[in-house]
Amino acid sequence: MNLLGLDAQGMERLFAIIGEKPFRARQVLKWIHRRGAADFGAMTDIAKDLRAKLAAVATIEPPVVIGDGTAADGTRKWLLKVDGANAVEAVFIPEDGRGTLCVSSQAGCTLDCEFCSTGKQGFNRNLTAAEIIGQLWLANRALGVHGQPGGVGAGNRAISNVVFMGMGEPMLNLDAVIPAARLMIDENGYGLSRRRVTVSTSGVVPGMDRLAAECPVALAVSLHAPDDALRDRLVPINRKYPIRALLAACNRYLEHAPRDFITFEYVMLDGVNDSDAQAQALLGIAARVRCKFNLIPFNPFPGSGLKRSGAERIRRFAEVLQRGGLTATTRKTRGDGIDAACGQLAGDVADRTRRTRTVPITEVRA
Ligand code: SAH
Ligand code: SF4
Repeated sequence: MNLLGLDAQGMERLFAIIGEKPFRARQVLKWIHRRGAADFGAMTDIAKDLRAKLAAVATIEPPVVIGDGTAADGTRKWLLKVDGANAVEAVFIPEDGRGTLCVSSQAGCTLDCEFCSTGKQGFNRNLTAAEIIGQLWLANRALGVHGQPGGVGAGNRAISNVVFMGMGEPMLNLDAVIPAARLMIDENGYGLSRRRVTVSTSGVVPGMDRLAAECPVALAVSLHAPDDALRDRLVPINRKYPIRALLAACNRYLEHAPRDFITFEYVMLDGVNDSDAQAQALLGIAARVRCKFNLIPFNPFPGSGLKRSGAERIRRFAEVLQRGGLTATTRKTRGDGIDAACGQLAGDVADRTRRTRTVPITEVRA
């Protein structure tokens, strides 16, 4: 059994089964996640016979790194093999005063948003908790900060924030996303505050309610359109959970959230959703839920048939929102040259859906 994906509860349960005390479980958790230990032999403050017992029944197994590239701006992308047929991507984005790791939650995505390269490649399977937390575990090791003095959450860690904005829809894989998120915020794990772990969703309403109840971290919602007619087309899950239901779920989430606003992500598509009138319409939405807007210039990929809004259009769109009293920021495009920007993550997914693949994967990754 792979211990990497067990949160405190899971580890204690396992230790109870093998006749060990809960505090031993926490010790092992610390070794794995705070110190980045990969083998039981290294766990020097744990009795030898327990180490041997663990080695006999358990492993610590991260995904295998099969690609590792760094862009000129310092953005680094890993391609991680999760099984014989699938690989997913994780991206580290260094910024002044913080470092963000963007993790994947599924191999592919079932939701097929029009502007997303992950969606276009189809879906194979959910990642396990070990495969999700394994991305953070590997990135921490690769960035060379494990084992330094200073303790959990200290400034010596390169990764200060985690966002579930890589491949996949996290709300459709909560059985794995929740234990992974719990490890991120656990003092014996990565010790990140709830505000520094953000789950992004295209609007899977029941998932939002479950996350609020079981592990309320910061929430970002991919809005992308001010009305149902357009959102039905761009984000097809809207046909099931239209804007009215989505906003109600946002308000319920806010009762549990570590922040007092929802971040609405809004991809800027030339001539599609970027007019002044559409910005005005967003003000009507903002009147119904406490929110901030994060505008994402569309990142093109081959065959999308869509274009990024011009810089001046984006500036003007943000201005309309700001004049209406909203906070609206524009995301910087990062990772040029290694296809590491939002919506460009394609990994290598053995598609099991019957969807016609509009973009050959090799082309996306070229
Ligand atoms: N499935 C989740 C999280 C992954 S996508 C979601 O949809 O929210 C993370 C963000 O990148 C989402 O806001 C998504 O809409 C956006 N995105 C997807 N494709 C993009 C593209 N080509 N250019 C810019 N942003 C994109
Ligand atoms: Fe899936 Fe999010 Fe991409 Fe939509 S934008 S296809 S929900 S990963």
